[in-house]
Amino acid sequence: MILVTGGAGFIGANFILDWLEASGEPVLNLDALTYAGNLQSLSSLHADPRHVFVKGDIGDRALLERLYAEHRPRAVVHFAAESHVDRSIHGPGDFIRTNIEGTYTLLEATRSHWNGLPADEQAAFRFHHVSTDEVYGSIAEGSWDETRPLEPNSPYSASKAGSDLLARSYFRTHGLNLSITRCSNNYGPYHFPEKVIPLFVTNLIDDKHVPLYGEGDNIRDWLHVDDHTRGIAMVLVNGRAGEIYNIGGGTELRNKELTQLLLDAAGKDWTYVDRVQDRLGHDLRYSVDISKIRAELGYEPLVPFAEGLADVVQWYRDNRAWWEPLKERAAL
Ligand code: NAD
Repeated sequence: MILVTGGAGFIGANFILDWLEASGEPVLNLDALTYAGNLQSLSSLHADPRHVFVKGDIGDRALLERLYAEHRPRAVVHFAAESHVDRSIHGPGDFIRTNIEGTYTLLEATRSHWNGLPADEQAAFRFHHVSTDEVYGSIAEGSWDETRPLEPNSPYSASKAGSDLLARSYFRTHGLNLSITRCSNNYGPYHFPEKVIPLFVTNLIDDKHVPLYGEGDNIRDWLHVDDHTRGIAMVLVNGRAGEIYNIGGGTELRNKELTQLLLDAAGKDWTYVDRVQDRLGHDLRYSVDISKIRAELGYEPLVPFAEGLADVVQWYRDNRAWWEPLKERAAL
């Protein structure tokens, strides 16, 4: 069994679905069900004994110790986080609590469990930390490799950089068998509709306007979530301990180019776009160099962007029952 934190969120839920399909190995899913967590994303696993769900906080040390003792997972994939940059600008407290303190508590509970394991189980154990390319900051030209210093610019990315470095320190200091991936922007099904792609797609489906930050010149590298979950699984199984692997290499687009594609998909024009004041400290461009994961693990992104985006637009058309209540609750 593996322990997945944040498995009711966008990427965590996709990871669990893909993991169970590919490996069949049971998953213990620990998620606090914040506004971003949604068990509806895992409704297909409702009667599946391979998915054990526990509602709880990664900052709850006693709960973590109980879960380790009861389930003895052989690995951890740590997704749980506050993940929305805009929310981190207006209220960074939850980001510090979950991303930094929560990761610290999880690492400590893991270390204590791992210390008590017999040598063979200790060697086979793996903690995988899911980080983001946003920890590197912003890059005007070229791409970051994994040795680049971290220069995060938002409270979100700073808190993720904190957790990323803390995780790494547990390998360097304690020898905990640990890996880290830093991935670019994901898109796909079950993406909370406050994020740009699902927000724009669902607004346009409902004939509503979409808010574009500033001039729309910011560049993001978009990767289908299935390409991210596959990359994580590859690192979990074959990645070297103590190593960091970038994941990305999808499609770089300016936000205004992405907007054009989403307008086209919805059969709408620019009269549906409202220019809004730019996000504070808005990073201009993210770009990861994925040579390392490509060379060591044979990783390649497989989902062509045009195809992936068309599928996702169709998914939101077909799954109004999933996103409509979320938008109503979050007043989006
Ligand atoms: P998300 O916001 O959709 O999901 C986060 C999940 O974590 C939710 O289910 C939430 O309930 C849970 N959670 C939050 N605080 C918790 C706590 N204290 N204890 C237990 N559970 C808690 O986020 P996402 O987009 O799925 O991102 C998952 C991870 O991947 C994050 O660590 C994020 O930084 C990273 N990441 C995201 C992207 C992206 O494009 N979305 C890209 C790279 C990396």
